[in-house]
Amino acid sequence: MAKAKKPRYVDVSNPSLAVDCPRCGMTTARFVDHCRNCGYKLWPSSVMASAAFKAWRAADPEPRSKVSRFDLELPVEEEAVVDYEARAHELGIHIFPNSNWPFTICLGALFLGLAAIPLAGAVRIALAVIGGVIFLVGVVGWVWVEDQKMYEASAAGGEAEH
Ligand SMILES: [Zn+2]
Repeated sequence: MAKAKKPRYVDVSNPSLAVDCPRCGMTTARFVDHCRNCGYKLWPSSVMASAAFKAWRAADPEPRSKVSRFDLELPVEEEAVVDYEARAHELGIHIFPNSNWPFTICLGALFLGLAAIPLAGAVRIALAVIGGVIFLVGVVGWVWVEDQKMYEASAAGGEAEH
């Protein structure tokens, strides 16, 4: 590609970030002053190459603002949606079912922790009882109730949980 002396002569309509080097013919970054492969001087100076890059970028800021002049192509937007449960199943990794019970257990632990503060005896006992009850409800709900549901699901649905 013929290179102009001034950056305003850069072909901003060309979306390409890469160019074939006139000397070695290999693909190199279009807005870097030297060919990446053979060192051929593509631009008179790096300042000029950078100015050309800025002009090129300004011509279409939406996709072009995301790239650096050392890139060879514009980034491709792709949405990575992964079904982790299916993936884990495929890999034979067991994922414990989602549960909100750990939050209940933490709340119980909070009250138990408050009971450790040297307050009046009755207040501490009350806090310990409240905390203990919430904690136990959480543990029972998680380990017992939900686990049972899980086993029923596995028994009914075959390998659903493995
Ligand atoms: Zn080259």
